Amino acid sequence: MRTTLAATMPHMPADRPRYLMGVGRPIDLIDGVAAGIDMFDCVLPTRCGRTALAFTFAGTLKMRHARLRDDLRPIEEGCPCPACRHSRSYLRHLFIAGEMLGPVLVSLHNLTMYARLMRQLRAAILSGSFQAVAANLRERIDGDAD
Ligand SMILES: [Zn+2]
Repeated sequence: MRTTLAATMPHMPADRPRYLMGVGRPIDLIDGVAAGIDMFDCVLPTRCGRTALAFTFAGTLKMRHARLRDDLRPIEEGCPCPACRHSRSYLRHLFIAGEMLGPVLVSLHNLTMYARLMRQLRAAILSGSFQAVAANLRERIDGDAD
């Protein structure tokens, strides 16, 4: 993807929106925006939400993991989504019990996280701080969260 973007983006009209279909992980969105992409669409936030993988600004969380059994923190502090009104422990319980509410809530969390990420990237572009913001996000966003 990165090689293709580097080869094609210089030839894209600067006065038209640039769309990258089917991408991707949060780190891919940061790299896509850095390459000049304006729009994305992807199933990943909801597909991963359905399969118990939560995206956060500190990396990913596997919501079925045993270490979350007694974890009373939300998926991500400061997240305004409906899932983050509940504990990681409760959300894990929903997945273990096969309750549909678990996949619904984690999908909503992931969509909220993606929207917050894109809002941060937009603000960074407008304030002229994109490179610093992107570098800071890249350091945190692409691993396993605690
Ligand atoms: Zn959330």
